[in-house]
Amino acid sequence: MSWWEIGEGSGHSAYNDELRLDLVDCGFCGESGRFAFESRIIKKNHKGKALRYDTLRCEECGNLTSVFWGTGSSGLQRHYQVPWLKETTKWPTHWPDDVGRFWLQARRSIEGSNWDAAALMARSAVQLVLRHQQATGKSLFEEINDLGKKGVLPPVMVEWAHEVRVLGNDNAHPTPGAAGTAPKDAQAVVEFLGMLLRVTFDLPFQISEHRGSKTAKP
Ligand SMILES: [Zn+2]
Repeated sequence: MSWWEIGEGSGHSAYNDELRLDLVDCGFCGESGRFAFESRIIKKNHKGKALRYDTLRCEECGNLTSVFWGTGSSGLQRHYQVPWLKETTKWPTHWPDDVGRFWLQARRSIEGSNWDAAALMARSAVQLVLRHQQATGKSLFEEINDLGKKGVLPPVMVEWAHEVRVLGNDNAHPTPGAAGTAPKDAQAVVEFLGMLLRVTFDLPFQISEHRGSKTAKP
Protein backbone atom coordinates (compact mmCIF):
# COMPACT_ATOMS: atom_id res chain seq x y z
CA MET A 1 0.00 0.00 0.00
CA SER A 2 1.47 3.31 -1.11
CA TRP A 3 1.30 6.69 0.65
CA TRP A 4 -0.73 7.83 -2.36
CA GLU A 5 -3.59 5.70 -1.04
CA ILE A 6 -3.82 7.78 2.12
CA GLY A 7 -7.47 8.15 3.19
CA GLU A 8 -8.67 5.43 0.81
CA GLY A 9 -10.83 3.08 2.82
CA SER A 10 -10.08 4.44 6.28
CA GLY A 11 -9.84 7.77 8.05
CA HIS A 12 -12.03 10.47 9.54
CA SER A 13 -14.96 12.06 7.74
CA ALA A 14 -13.97 15.30 6.09
CA TYR A 15 -16.49 17.61 4.53
CA ASN A 16 -14.07 19.26 2.17
CA ASP A 17 -10.45 18.86 1.15
CA GLU A 18 -9.13 20.87 4.06
CA LEU A 19 -7.22 19.60 7.07
CA ARG A 20 -9.45 18.96 10.06
CA LEU A 21 -7.53 20.95 12.64
CA ASP A 22 -9.67 19.51 15.43
CA LEU A 23 -7.94 16.18 14.83
CA VAL A 24 -4.47 17.67 15.34
CA ASP A 25 -3.06 18.03 18.86
CA CYS A 26 -0.14 20.35 19.45
CA GLY A 27 2.81 18.05 20.20
CA PHE A 28 3.95 20.42 22.95
CA CYS A 29 0.95 21.67 24.91
CA GLY A 30 -1.81 19.34 23.69
CA GLU A 31 -4.10 22.13 22.48
CA SER A 32 -6.12 21.03 19.46
CA GLY A 33 -7.75 22.92 16.65
CA ARG A 34 -6.08 26.27 17.23
CA PHE A 35 -3.31 26.59 14.67
CA ALA A 36 -2.05 28.97 12.03
CA PHE A 37 -0.43 27.58 8.90
CA GLU A 38 3.32 28.22 8.84
CA SER A 39 3.87 26.51 5.49
CA ARG A 40 1.80 24.44 3.08
CA ILE A 41 2.99 22.15 0.32
CA ILE A 42 0.77 20.10 -2.02
CA LYS A 43 2.07 17.33 -4.30
CA LYS A 44 -0.32 15.78 -6.81
CA ASN A 45 0.06 12.63 -8.90
CA HIS A 46 -1.25 12.12 -12.46
CA LYS A 47 -4.67 11.12 -11.09
CA GLY A 48 -4.97 14.41 -9.25
CA LYS A 49 -4.66 12.79 -5.82
CA ALA A 50 -2.96 15.19 -3.44
CA LEU A 51 -0.49 14.60 -0.65
CA ARG A 52 -0.29 17.52 1.74
CA TYR A 53 2.64 18.64 3.88
CA ASP A 54 1.60 21.32 6.34
CA THR A 55 3.49 22.94 9.19
CA LEU A 56 1.23 24.34 11.88
CA ARG A 57 2.03 26.95 14.51
CA CYS A 58 0.15 26.45 17.78
CA GLU A 59 -1.72 29.61 18.79
CA GLU A 60 -1.50 28.57 22.43
CA CYS A 61 2.26 27.91 22.88
CA GLY A 62 3.79 28.96 19.54
CA ASN A 63 5.50 25.63 18.80
CA LEU A 64 5.43 23.91 15.42
CA THR A 65 3.84 20.61 14.46
CA SER A 66 4.22 19.00 11.00
CA VAL A 67 1.23 17.20 9.53
CA PHE A 68 1.31 14.89 6.54
CA TRP A 69 -2.22 14.22 5.32
CA GLY A 70 -4.54 13.42 2.47
CA THR A 71 -8.19 12.86 1.65
CA GLY A 72 -9.45 9.69 -0.04
CA SER A 73 -11.96 9.55 -2.91
CA SER A 74 -14.84 8.82 -0.49
CA GLY A 75 -14.03 11.89 1.62
CA LEU A 76 -12.10 10.19 4.42
CA GLN A 77 -9.11 12.04 5.74
CA ARG A 78 -6.06 10.59 7.42
CA HIS A 79 -3.18 12.47 8.97
CA TYR A 80 0.17 11.74 10.59
CA GLN A 81 1.89 14.29 12.75
CA VAL A 82 5.34 14.89 14.20
CA PRO A 83 5.91 15.59 17.02
CA TRP A 84 3.03 13.99 18.86
CA LEU A 85 2.04 14.67 22.44
CA LYS A 86 4.23 12.72 24.88
CA GLU A 87 1.76 12.98 27.74
CA THR A 88 -1.81 11.84 27.78
CA THR A 89 -4.07 14.86 28.30
CA LYS A 90 -7.41 13.88 26.82
CA TRP A 91 -9.62 11.11 25.58
CA PRO A 92 -11.55 10.68 22.32
CA THR A 93 -14.81 12.64 22.27
CA HIS A 94 -16.86 9.54 21.43
CA TRP A 95 -16.06 7.97 24.82
CA PRO A 96 -18.34 8.74 27.79
CA ASP A 97 -16.69 11.47 29.89
CA ASP A 98 -16.64 9.44 33.11
CA VAL A 99 -14.84 6.57 31.38
CA GLY A 100 -12.45 9.01 29.72
CA ARG A 101 -11.62 10.69 33.01
CA PHE A 102 -10.79 7.38 34.72
CA TRP A 103 -8.79 6.18 31.70
CA LEU A 104 -6.82 9.45 31.65
CA GLN A 105 -5.94 9.13 35.32
CA ALA A 106 -4.94 5.48 34.84
CA ARG A 107 -2.69 6.44 31.90
CA ARG A 108 -1.11 9.33 33.77
CA SER A 109 -0.52 7.13 36.81
CA ILE A 110 1.36 4.66 34.57
CA GLU A 111 3.38 7.56 33.12
CA GLY A 112 4.26 8.58 36.69
CA SER A 113 4.98 4.99 37.90
CA ASN A 114 2.11 5.20 40.42
CA TRP A 115 1.13 1.54 40.13
CA ASP A 116 -1.55 1.27 42.84
CA ALA A 117 -3.33 4.35 41.52
CA ALA A 118 -3.07 3.11 37.92
CA ALA A 119 -4.54 -0.29 38.83
CA LEU A 120 -7.36 1.24 40.87
CA MET A 121 -8.36 3.75 38.19
CA ALA A 122 -8.11 1.22 35.37
CA ARG A 123 -10.21 -1.29 37.28
CA SER A 124 -12.83 1.38 38.01
CA ALA A 125 -12.82 2.38 34.33
CA VAL A 126 -13.37 -1.25 33.28
CA GLN A 127 -16.32 -1.38 35.70
CA LEU A 128 -17.80 1.78 34.19
CA VAL A 129 -17.40 0.49 30.64
CA LEU A 130 -19.22 -2.70 31.62
CA ARG A 131 -22.03 -0.62 33.09
CA HIS A 132 -22.26 1.55 29.97
CA GLN A 133 -22.54 -1.68 27.98
CA GLN A 134 -25.34 -2.93 30.28
CA ALA A 135 -23.40 -6.00 31.39
CA THR A 136 -25.01 -8.10 34.11
CA GLY A 137 -23.34 -10.28 36.74
CA LYS A 138 -22.23 -10.34 40.35
CA SER A 139 -18.52 -9.87 39.68
CA LEU A 140 -16.36 -8.21 37.08
CA PHE A 141 -15.63 -11.58 35.47
CA GLU A 142 -19.34 -12.45 35.32
CA GLU A 143 -20.04 -9.14 33.63
CA ILE A 144 -17.22 -9.68 31.15
CA ASN A 145 -18.50 -13.20 30.44
CA ASP A 146 -21.95 -11.69 29.92
CA LEU A 147 -20.65 -9.31 27.24
CA GLY A 148 -18.88 -12.27 25.66
CA LYS A 149 -22.17 -14.18 25.48
CA LYS A 150 -23.91 -11.16 23.95
CA GLY A 151 -21.24 -10.93 21.27
CA VAL A 152 -20.02 -7.49 22.39
CA LEU A 153 -16.60 -8.92 23.31
CA PRO A 154 -14.74 -11.50 21.21
CA PRO A 155 -13.79 -14.77 23.00
CA VAL A 156 -10.11 -13.80 23.08
CA MET A 157 -10.95 -10.68 25.15
CA VAL A 158 -12.98 -12.73 27.64
CA GLU A 159 -10.11 -15.22 27.92
CA TRP A 160 -7.58 -12.42 28.39
CA ALA A 161 -9.66 -10.83 31.18
CA HIS A 162 -9.17 -13.95 33.30
CA GLU A 163 -5.39 -13.55 33.05
CA VAL A 164 -5.41 -9.94 34.30
CA ARG A 165 -4.77 -10.22 38.05
CA VAL A 166 -6.14 -6.80 39.00
CA LEU A 167 -9.53 -7.63 37.46
CA GLY A 168 -9.81 -10.72 39.65
CA ASN A 169 -9.40 -8.71 42.84
CA ASP A 170 -13.05 -8.12 43.68
CA ASN A 171 -12.17 -6.63 47.02
CA ALA A 172 -11.01 -3.23 45.74
CA HIS A 173 -11.14 -1.73 49.24
CA PRO A 174 -7.81 -1.13 50.95
CA THR A 175 -6.73 -3.71 53.54
CA PRO A 176 -4.03 -2.93 56.13
CA GLY A 177 -0.64 -4.32 55.18
CA ALA A 178 -1.65 -5.25 51.63
CA ALA A 179 1.25 -5.49 49.17
CA GLY A 180 1.57 -2.82 46.49
CA THR A 181 0.53 -3.46 42.91
CA ALA A 182 3.36 -4.87 40.78
CA PRO A 183 4.23 -2.67 37.75
CA LYS A 184 3.41 -5.49 35.32
CA ASP A 185 -0.01 -6.02 36.91
CA ALA A 186 -0.81 -2.32 36.69
CA GLN A 187 0.34 -2.23 33.06
CA ALA A 188 -1.68 -5.34 32.24
CA VAL A 189 -4.97 -3.92 33.48
CA VAL A 190 -4.38 -0.57 31.74
CA GLU A 191 -3.67 -2.41 28.48
CA PHE A 192 -6.79 -4.49 28.93
CA LEU A 193 -8.78 -1.30 29.50
CA GLY A 194 -7.34 0.23 26.32
CA MET A 195 -8.38 -2.78 24.26
CA LEU A 196 -11.80 -2.88 25.91
CA LEU A 197 -12.35 0.76 24.92
CA ARG A 198 -11.28 0.01 21.37
CA VAL A 199 -13.74 -2.84 21.03
CA THR A 200 -16.72 -1.25 22.83
CA PHE A 201 -16.42 2.41 21.78
CA ASP A 202 -13.79 2.97 19.05
CA LEU A 203 -14.78 0.15 16.74
CA PRO A 204 -18.54 0.97 16.55
CA PHE A 205 -17.68 4.67 16.20
CA GLN A 206 -15.19 4.11 13.38
CA ILE A 207 -17.58 1.80 11.56
CA SER A 208 -20.40 4.34 11.77
CA GLU A 209 -18.05 7.12 10.62
CA HIS A 210 -16.99 4.99 7.70
CA ARG A 211 -20.52 3.94 6.77
CA GLY A 212 -21.72 7.52 7.04
CA SER A 213 -18.87 8.97 5.03
CA LYS A 214 -20.43 8.32 1.60
CA THR A 215 -23.60 10.16 2.53
CA ALA A 216 -21.95 12.94 4.57
CA LYS A 217 -23.12 16.40 3.58
CA PRO A 218 -21.21 19.65 4.03
ZN1 LIG B 1 0.90 24.25 21.74
